Amino acid sequence: MDHSELTALDRRYVMQTYGRFDVDIDHGTGATLYDLAGREYIDFTSGIGVCSIGYANPKWADAVAAQAAKLGHVSNLFYTQPCAKLAEQLCTRAGMAAAFFANSGAESNEGVIKLARKYSFDKYGKGRGTIITLKNSFHGRTITTLTATGQDVFHNYFFPFDEGFRYARAGSMDSVQEVAGHDVCAVMLELVQGEGGVLPMEPDFVHDLAVLCAERDWLLLVDEVQTGIGRTGTLFAFQQYGILPDAVSFAKGIAGGLPMGGFLASDRTRAVLGPGTHATTFGGNPICAAAAQVVLDTLDEDALAAVRAKGEYLRARIEALGSPYLGATRGLGLMIGVEVKGGATNRELAGRLIQNGLLVLTAGTALRLLPPLTITQEELDRGLAILEETLL
Ligand SMILES: *Cc1c(COP(=O)(O)O)cnc(C)c1O
Repeated sequence: MDHSELTALDRRYVMQTYGRFDVDIDHGTGATLYDLAGREYIDFTSGIGVCSIGYANPKWADAVAAQAAKLGHVSNLFYTQPCAKLAEQLCTRAGMAAAFFANSGAESNEGVIKLARKYSFDKYGKGRGTIITLKNSFHGRTITTLTATGQDVFHNYFFPFDEGFRYARAGSMDSVQEVAGHDVCAVMLELVQGEGGVLPMEPDFVHDLAVLCAERDWLLLVDEVQTGIGRTGTLFAFQQYGILPDAVSFAKGIAGGLPMGGFLASDRTRAVLGPGTHATTFGGNPICAAAAQVVLDTLDEDALAAVRAKGEYLRARIEALGSPYLGATRGLGLMIGVEVKGGATNRELAGRLIQNGLLVLTAGTALRLLPPLTITQEELDRGLAILEETLL
């Protein structure tokens, strides 16, 4: 099959919900991908923050194959080793108490929302189910997580949306106080807003928010679907902010390319969702859990230190380019936003870079870079060379 046959087949039979670039991908290794015609691309996307230990990582591929040959699925009616071991690893490294496994970011956030509402219901009864989220946030595509998402563009077509969310301005405690009330049970936020444009929260704001949550007995819910699992240079971004959330969701990077998500609860909230209150058929699937184990083993303290160093290197090189199209950079670790200027849109610039062999993402009005965390120096420099020849 060649490129035009593939795209024709896709357009004929796959629901056209995605604005795809006119590129197909066939296989990859490390941070390098190849299309059907054998053309090479340097990848600064990780499949949107997912393939953080690179493509076809040999340890990952071996673990997936070995687990598939042993036990692919058995349901949550029974104990399985990969799930329990993974929960132990995640809790220990995050300083949290217990894990629930799900399959996607949106589903993980739904679980965290349920946990917050039940915590409050158990303690205070009905009428305290409202969750404060931030403007410009992104929490997922289910009806409830779309409602939680603080961007009007997402509140369209699918009426009626849910009740129970109010939106505060990121960085403004006054704005949080304005939407506070007796019906609130939690605050949910991303520490670096990803889809919103790679916008890190101010540490003071996060600290003040944590204090207010403790005062009001609101749960502090951190959506680390994009920032989690090493992306920002620590296993979770909250570990750089000096806070301990009551619940933290994760997904994208956890299983290195297999669909998995979940959330961690603190000591205080670990028992809120008791037997029968929450479930999902595929949650903690042994193949996904075995894959995730390799991801966590790979992202040890040395690898996380390298993520921070590579992030600084990439940002310094991009700022030193002096491109007429690229402005300031921002972000944490290898979650980087690059401001766009000079009259071109981020989508146009992304299109030109992809055409020239460098895969990048957009977010808000910025270019967004999420390279595999294991990207080599040589791959980084090849990506930067494409950036230079395309945008100088
Ligand atoms: C991607 C993302 C989600 C949604 O994850 P899905 O797996 O697409 O459901 C939720 N929150 C954040 C912060 C994300 O980046």
